Amino acid sequence: MTDSSTIFRFDRDLYIPEIDLWLDSRRVKPFGFVSHAHTDHLARHKQILCTPPTAEFIEKRIKPTDYQLLKFGQPLVLDDYTISLHPAGHILGSAQIKIQKNGFSLLYTGDFRLEPSKTVETFEFVETDVLIMETTFGQAQYRMPSKQEVEDRLVERCRHLLTQNKIPIVLAYSLGKGQEALKILTDAGLPVAVEEQIVRFVPTYQKYGVEFGPFEKFDRNNLRGKVNLLPVNYRFHRFYKRLSNGYTIYLSGWGMEPYAERRFGVDEVIPLSDHADYHQLFKLVETIKPKEVYCTHGFPQFVNELKAAGYRAKILENAEPAH
Ligand SMILES: [Zn+2]
Repeated sequence: MTDSSTIFRFDRDLYIPEIDLWLDSRRVKPFGFVSHAHTDHLARHKQILCTPPTAEFIEKRIKPTDYQLLKFGQPLVLDDYTISLHPAGHILGSAQIKIQKNGFSLLYTGDFRLEPSKTVETFEFVETDVLIMETTFGQAQYRMPSKQEVEDRLVERCRHLLTQNKIPIVLAYSLGKGQEALKILTDAGLPVAVEEQIVRFVPTYQKYGVEFGPFEKFDRNNLRGKVNLLPVNYRFHRFYKRLSNGYTIYLSGWGMEPYAERRFGVDEVIPLSDHADYHQLFKLVETIKPKEVYCTHGFPQFVNELKAAGYRAKILENAEPAH
């Protein structure tokens, strides 16, 4: 009989033993599914199972390897198993994986977000017996403002700073959040200069149908009169610390926490998040009503709340918060 004890194991990473498939392992394996191209989900496996956009991003980050590419919804049959990938709504190409054997199914979400974004395929709700989900923001305090509100705040803040002759510096992760911010800012008609670590992923977004307004390349000697969009590691650069007329904005879901500005060492944290918030995490479980739920990357109390709501829920691991 197929059940959760035979279909997967957890050995620091998720593992499907009968087809020797590892899920989001950071250790190099013969065959590994990579849900999306953030480095905390990635290793140079001998063969990588992923979506085509994810493969393009990975190729910019690691040395060449072999890929088993799978488009969303396209089935892959391996022995008695059928595998399919479904949009996770986190960054372009990010995928949930559904693994079925003898009518029994497991779904691993990877990092996910339910709210639609202009730069990412919209999350798909997929039925499953066992749900393995990331629960990064699995605490009631993590309730994000609406995406529209967050986007408006970013645009209005930058526009206001420019009229005040200040230099807006927007810090975002180089893959995902960076292109999302670029889309929001250029759609609003703001002049934007973008640093190379963010620019290098833009062609893949364009190839998959995301259109950006005009932007220029970041030049540290020419900062005035535009929004400067930089990767988050710029917080530690010397040029940045010497800025006299700058105003720094960090884009992170952790902006909902008190003292986020002090923690990130910036003037403002705007909670543009590519993860599900507490409300969305619950909505996922209540929509697909799985028989069992395993939570990763989260808070123990979320598991207790799922149990209180009548679900069979467990913690799969205690890992560092995801990006
Ligand atoms: Zn991620």
